Amino acid sequence: MKQRLVILGGGESGVGAAVLGKQKNYEVFISDVGVILPEYKKMLIKEEVSFEENSHSKKLILNASIVVKSPGIPDSNLLVRELIEKDVLVVSEIEFASWYTDAKLIGITGSNGKTTTTSLTYHILKYAGLNVGVAGNIGQSFAFQVATCDYDFYVLELSSFQLDGVDKLKLDVSVLLNITPDHLDRYNNSIEQYINSKFNIIKNTDEKSVFIYNLDDVNITNRIKQLSLLNSAYGFTLNPLRGKGAGVENGNLCLDINSPIRILESNVSLRGKHNAYNVMASAIIASVLNVKTENIISAVKSFQPIEHRMERVTNINGVEYINDSKATNVDSTFYALDSIEKDVVWIAGGVDKGNDYSQLIPLVRSKVLGMVCLGKDNKKLHDVFENLVDQIDDALSADEAVEKATSMAKEGCTVLLSPACASFDLFKNYEDRGQKFKKGIIKLNQ
Ligand code: ADP
Repeated sequence: MKQRLVILGGGESGVGAAVLGKQKNYEVFISDVGVILPEYKKMLIKEEVSFEENSHSKKLILNASIVVKSPGIPDSNLLVRELIEKDVLVVSEIEFASWYTDAKLIGITGSNGKTTTTSLTYHILKYAGLNVGVAGNIGQSFAFQVATCDYDFYVLELSSFQLDGVDKLKLDVSVLLNITPDHLDRYNNSIEQYINSKFNIIKNTDEKSVFIYNLDDVNITNRIKQLSLLNSAYGFTLNPLRGKGAGVENGNLCLDINSPIRILESNVSLRGKHNAYNVMASAIIASVLNVKTENIISAVKSFQPIEHRMERVTNINGVEYINDSKATNVDSTFYALDSIEKDVVWIAGGVDKGNDYSQLIPLVRSKVLGMVCLGKDNKKLHDVFENLVDQIDDALSADEAVEKATSMAKEGCTVLLSPACASFDLFKNYEDRGQKFKKGIIKLNQ
């Protein structure tokens, strides 16, 4: 008899899991409490997968043999709890897809920098001629690619929600970029629980696996002290390199894995200390996979910043505009402000996820001339920063924020959108916020 695969959530990962499940001879059913997008519905109909939308019908779900759950659905969800109580295996799409591929798997997690590091790693490996796919939160789902492509390597961007759904997933290379407070609402406001989730990245690994991690992050290094690591481990640090791994000397990135590599600061297209970490992590991965030094160096040089992440938009009348809309927590904004050497007019705000802004105070005091608070409720930002900046104002749209920031900016300044907050009070998502910011800048010239 066929095993019944029930998939909760009919988005990119759910539909990918359905296609793979069908191919592997499961009886597949998808259930989504919301609306399933027309393009996904079309695919489900083509694949003859039965589905429901706008509700979860318990009797069609509780009889599952295996459940693949969208990362957006928390474990505290009542239906999920009922399934777990019934001993039904509930896994993530990444876990499910990993059962059906022999490709080498490289997994990248962290509170910030996942997309950048995953994309850069993919770029380096592809540049070096490897047969590689990229998945996770980027592009097509892992499951869909496992069903339809034949890659030798996958670079996977793994959020903590995806790592929560790990059972047997075994990564060949695991990367832990950093751990700073984020999404704690999903972890009972416990940083320990969030750290546990991130450390799932090395669950199931063995002496043949490689673990790459940030030596400067105390949440990581403290936890590592309590573990007896089986894997080969390489650290990266902004300090000079000691031993195997990667470090920074006179601004240049130095690696010693299989052989010494030196990447000159001038050959790195990504700016800022945060990106130095991302580049070191990617270069270690490539080096571990025996990519030639010259390919690593050329690929790092040719990689371009990704949209909404410290993206230089334009320069108008000597004022530079930078879109860092993806900065949805304090740590990412810290690195954004830190990386700018000029005076800054800072656009911040949105939905505050319990932020502690104290880390930003010295940077704001030393380089922020003016501030525009772009959110429905800006009280906390005013309370913390009002006395540190010459000018502060509020905006309820990106256009208004751009206009007010421009009027505060002097020649030679940078206008930086790096909100440190989520976007959904005024925007659909961070992409919408970044796009509207860029449109607001174009309007300045009209
Ligand atoms: P993620 O996928 O983890 O959200 P992104 O690469 O999309 O990470 O970057 C999100 C935000 O964090 C951007 O504002 C970016 O400039 C910043 N950022 C990128 N890498 C790092 C890092 N290593 N440490 C801190 N902030 C980072």
